This record gives sequence, structure tokens and C-alpha cells, in this order.
Amino acid sequence: MRQTLKHQERLFDVDEALEEIKGRRPAMADIATSFAILQKARLAVREALPATSLLESPPAAAVLASGLPLLAEYLNTLAQPPVTLVERFHAAAKVILPAEAQAFPKLAADLARLAVLLDSPGAGPDQGSGLAAALLAAIAPGEEDAARQTVEDIAARLHLAPVVLHMTATESLLAVLTHESEQLGPLVDQEAWRRGYCPVCGGGPDVGILKEGKEDSEFLIAKAGQLWFHCSQCAALWRFPRLRCASCDCEDPSRMEILMAEDDARSEQEQAHLCQDCKTYYTTVNLVDRTDRVNLEMLPIRLLHLEVLAQERGFAPMAPSPWNTLT
Ligand SMILES: [Zn+2]
Ligand SMILES: [Zn+2]
Repeated sequence: MRQTLKHQERLFDVDEALEEIKGRRPAMADIATSFAILQKARLAVREALPATSLLESPPAAAVLASGLPLLAEYLNTLAQPPVTLVERFHAAAKVILPAEAQAFPKLAADLARLAVLLDSPGAGPDQGSGLAAALLAAIAPGEEDAARQTVEDIAARLHLAPVVLHMTATESLLAVLTHESEQLGPLVDQEAWRRGYCPVCGGGPDVGILKEGKEDSEFLIAKAGQLWFHCSQCAALWRFPRLRCASCDCEDPSRMEILMAEDDARSEQEQAHLCQDCKTYYTTVNLVDRTDRVNLEMLPIRLLHLEVLAQERGFAPMAPSPWNTLT
């Protein structure tokens, strides 16, 4: 038997995975390179933050049992973020900003100005941790509220491109969530959680992995394997029934369609699963009986060509991101 999923799948580092993508799909080289730079920044954030959870006490098992992700309650506080979260977000942004400038040189001037403001020791709303807290609050999910400052409001006041603030705030928060997921991951009962969203942060799946193991309903080891989803926000992994739509729970095989690219030998292992009922899709890579070296965090970019095919047919991604929101 293979070792744990993480041992099996994380054998490739980001740079090796990038070289493989560039070799197979030269047209994706630029986007994959930018994506890889930001993934490495997320790994660097993990090293920079203390190895403790944001949660002061672990959530009760009943939280997961009721279908709530472990961080659900905590993430409701984003509009008025707790000090520890602001500190970690601020520290993450300092690591992320230079990486963004490398990934997107055209935005480098605005990114550098934002970095100076975040580094400023002042206590004003547009300096240092005050600005970090304002950015977090601005990207908090929730009702439209006329009194609430938006990213665009802050961008106009600071004379910065809104995309720079959106990207920095989002990437920094995702880096903090990815770090948090490492702390909280062991609390997830993988035998019990079977939802279409992440047990840690509630994010949707950006890619699925099929690996050896039996399905809940099967007595024998099934050749088709178990489906594990990868969270688009915090990189957590969780199991999901192989033949169900994670978006609408449809289980009718006649409503599901599989899409493959047919341009190289490995295409067979890579599929997009389309649901005709809700018109969404997810992509998977099949690792059953294989020894391919992959990097989980780079898989969404490795499978991006399948997202293009699915979107050309009118299907939407289960976890939309700036990378797969194609025009
Ligand atoms: Zn997550
Ligand atoms: Zn569906």
C-alpha cells in the first residue's frame, strides 16, 4: 500500500511541476510561471507564521458533524478582524507582495507603493496594521453595506489600482488559511465528512485526485479509486463520493459527462467532470496504479486546458478563481 496521500502526491516540488507543465503545454508557460511564484510565496508564509492555530480552543466535534467547516465561525469575524488574524495577514502580505511583483511586473510600481504603506509604522487607517485590517474587512464576505469601505474605496484614496489591493488581500488571506489548514487538518474526521466544500475553511474544490482505496459502498478495493478534493482556498484534502456532483448533489450518471483532452499520452488520466443539471464542472487527475509525481498545488494549472474546454461548452468552475475565470 502507498503511504499517506500527502506522501504520495507531494513528491514534486513547485519548480519541478512547473517544468513539466511548460514541457507539455508551452502555451501555458507564462500563466503557470506566475502561478508557481505565488504558490512558493504561500509556502514561504507557512514558514514565517507561528505553528499554532488562530483558534484559541479546538472546535467541538459537533461543529463538523453539523456540516460547518472548522473555521466557519471564525471567518465570520473578517469584517472586524481579531488582532491575531490582522498580524498574520500583515506578515503574509509582506512575503506575498514581492512575489506578486515578480509574477506581474506590470503591477510592480503599485505593489511597491502598497508595500511601503503596509511597512509604515504609523497607526493611521492607511498605514501598517491599520491598512491590513481595512483590507481584510474590505474583502470579508457578507451583505452589501453602504457604510462599509470597499477595496475600490481604499484604492481610490491611495491612488492604487484596485486589482493590486484585491490580489494582495486575497493572496495574503489564502496564505494564512493554508497555514491554518495545516494546524487544523488533523481534527477533520475523513471518514465522516462527505460534503462538496472544505471541512476546514468552506472553500470549493479546485481539483480532485483519484487514488487507491474503496468507495464507502464497495466491499472490494475498487479499481476506480477514491475521490479526494483539494481546497481552492486552504489546500486541505477531503473525500467525496466519486459519482456525485459536489455542487448540486446530483447522482444520476446519465446527467454526468466526462471530458478529456486527446493530445498526449497522459490525457487519459486527466478529466473534467461535467454536471448537466447545474452546469458546473470539476477536474481530476487519476493516480490509481500510477507512480506519477505531481504537486497538488500546481494541479489546477496543469489541468487548466480542461477548464478551457469545459467553459467553451458553457460550464462554470465549482471554485472560480482569477486563474480559471476565462474570457
Ligand atoms: Zn479549505
Ligand atoms: Zn450538479
